[in-house]
Amino acid sequence: MISYLKCLKLVVNQGVYNRGIRLYLDGLVSKPDPMILDNWRRYEVQGNNDHYTIKIPLLHLTLDRKKFDKAGDAISEISTCECEYYYSYGICKHIVAVCASIDKEFDANTNLSFEREKADNNSVLDNIFEAEKVKKHRKWYEVIEMYLTRDHPNYFYLDEISKTLADEPLDHDEFLIGLHRIVEAVIGDYAKEKLLVKIILESILVGKKVWWDFWLPFLLRFDERNMNRLFIGLWKIRWLSGAKSYQVELDKLLISMKNKEKKLIFEQLKIEFENQREIWLEYCFVAKYYSWLEENIDILDPSYIVKMCLSLPEKREEYEYKILNQVKIWADFLQAGKYEEIKDFFQYWQQALGRSEVYEDAVKYFQTAHPKKKKLLIGIS
Ligand SMILES: [Zn+2]
Repeated sequence: MISYLKCLKLVVNQGVYNRGIRLYLDGLVSKPDPMILDNWRRYEVQGNNDHYTIKIPLLHLTLDRKKFDKAGDAISEISTCECEYYYSYGICKHIVAVCASIDKEFDANTNLSFEREKADNNSVLDNIFEAEKVKKHRKWYEVIEMYLTRDHPNYFYLDEISKTLADEPLDHDEFLIGLHRIVEAVIGDYAKEKLLVKIILESILVGKKVWWDFWLPFLLRFDERNMNRLFIGLWKIRWLSGAKSYQVELDKLLISMKNKEKKLIFEQLKIEFENQREIWLEYCFVAKYYSWLEENIDILDPSYIVKMCLSLPEKREEYEYKILNQVKIWADFLQAGKYEEIKDFFQYWQQALGRSEVYEDAVKYFQTAHPKKKKLLIGIS
């Protein structure tokens, strides 16, 4: 890969060059348009009063490698601009700006040669992109600060940041270091923490692991009510998306919380998802919060009681009898449409806990009390 800028630097005067870089950094170069000719591009650059069309070939795709040292001349020979300067003197700041944009675009995609250029400390490009990055990060801080002052912000910019971080996980350490300081200043300020919780949840939802790693050291440091909000949100994300890339770490945190905190989260989930009990029951198992389950074991479905046996093996015998009782009731009132369900359950029970005495009793109960339903358990007993 050649650097278009480096080639140009050899053939244009410094003033034009610098003004071109400035145009690029100010974001005045459009996205490229392909042209009918292969490997030619059309760009628009916004000037002081007007905007200009630049046409330029992608030399790194067309020029013979042996002629790379002539690339600067090639650009000045065939690329065009519509401005006055170009007609009088040739290569103008608009073409320089476009070359900066091309360098940026292709450097990002051609790793090998990019690494070589990166190693060159004096690389013109490094300085430019460094400046560009600093500018970008400054904007990001402003966005975060803005979110820390508003109750109902539009998270569009945050989602953009999150996507960029997820795409370029190694490129924004400086930003995260600066953000660290901002977050430290927020902790302890209840109202701001509350807004920060929203930012954390939204960013993890979009940026996943990168953001998770960043927020992890802060997650247990908030005011109790904010922490409650935070973990309810994290649980919802886990429930909806699986949170695969950081699930193990999240689960460890959920387990590590105090019983009192777990209770608050549980109660809140129970209220919010009254009719979707699997959401809060699953929370109990993942967070190892068993108090409610133990108190309410008689109203749990048998499959949850099996899970309780697995989680609290010391109570297994006691709980298995509860399963037996439930299964008896279940069998006595079994409706035609439920046959598959009970077969599935027996299978699950056997797989999870093996064929215990109680299990055999349950099978026997079917065979004696409900001979007609006997064939239901074929393949199981
Ligand atoms: Zn021009």
